[in-house]
Amino acid sequence: MPLESKLPNVGTTIFTVMSKLAADEGAINLSQGYPDFDGPPALLERVGYYLTNGYNQYPPMSGIEPLRQAIAGKVADLYGVSVDPETEVTVTSGATEALFCAINAVVQVGDEVIVFDPCYDSYEPAVTLAGGVCRHLPLHAPDFHVDWDRVHDAVGPKTRLVIVNTPHNPTGAVWNVADIAGLRSVLARGDIYVVGDEVYEHILFDGRAHVSLCRYPDLFARSFVVSSFGKTYHTTGWKVAYCVAPAGLSAEFRRVHQFVTFTTATPLQYGIADFLRSCPEHHENLGAFYQAKRDLFCGLLAESRFRLTPSAGTFFQLVDYGQISNEPDAELARRWTVEKKIASIPISVFYEEPPTQTYLRFCFAKDDATLEQAAETLCEL
Ligand code: PMP
Ligand code: GLN
Repeated sequence: MPLESKLPNVGTTIFTVMSKLAADEGAINLSQGYPDFDGPPALLERVGYYLTNGYNQYPPMSGIEPLRQAIAGKVADLYGVSVDPETEVTVTSGATEALFCAINAVVQVGDEVIVFDPCYDSYEPAVTLAGGVCRHLPLHAPDFHVDWDRVHDAVGPKTRLVIVNTPHNPTGAVWNVADIAGLRSVLARGDIYVVGDEVYEHILFDGRAHVSLCRYPDLFARSFVVSSFGKTYHTTGWKVAYCVAPAGLSAEFRRVHQFVTFTTATPLQYGIADFLRSCPEHHENLGAFYQAKRDLFCGLLAESRFRLTPSAGTFFQLVDYGQISNEPDAELARRWTVEKKIASIPISVFYEEPPTQTYLRFCFAKDDATLEQAAETLCEL
């Protein structure tokens, strides 16, 4: 009996496709975004402690209290927002889960959701499953800024949600206060909510400040703000993240969350709670840590035929390969993985309308030796 797909246009994600190809081909994998080094030893020790000392049964549905308190403390310190850990902070199994829950808490059948292309690939399937429709608006190269006049043109009575991602994957662009003003003027147009995908909140470069939605009480009142410990602690495989939202929104969020995953691995939550309290300097130094890697990678590519503008945030660097090839990016990324043994992410897959630009995304969350080895190949292209 054939099953009619609810996601007929969705294939396997590009991250899975490229990482598998890289593994099959023995290529250096600068495609899927994950570090090739481990999280802080003190964090690993704490998780090991809880794993071997009986913290292995179901934690509360919204997350363990010490972790929710530590998250509330962090957002208060960094962004000046006071949130109730009991009712406004929910721990999730990855930001992917948090995004899915937030979208499904808000979007009703027929609602429109504004997303910006290139758009992280998990948003649209979540909107589609909720019965909504994405309105894709382009970010404008080379700095990938939002054209707020176009956003105003796209807003109508069906607009229910705007999905914001800063620092931005895959471009590395970072919003500034003018974007906050732009968003504010759009939200004034109706009953519109915001999902803030802020998983790279600690990875900004050259003195830039993260404009978290948590900083702005009028915006926060309509927002689900999502972050992920995977990015912050170099532990992407743990899939521990959280959503901070006002109590009314968090209540709806939890209605979905409790039937998606219910909760998140207990020893990981306790270990992260300890580490967040005892080692705040880790996330305070993360921007400098990744800026050094960005500078190393971009410096090494200065001799290459790629053109690039150094990334403003995230651990991704876009490079323009237009001087080397006019092949479509997906074909080129595949071919270079097989022939040159270096894997990247084509960014056309994150667009509704294929772009005319010629960009590939490289992940520089890698040991310096890996970046040096990769750059050697890239400089020969
Ligand atoms: N949003 C963005 C922009 C991301 O880059 C990622 C992961 N790379 C996620 C969400 C998902 O995060 P997690 O692995 O915690 O589910
Ligand atoms: N967000 C990661 C990236 O951009 C991938 C996460 C995943 O594979 N789901 O590379």
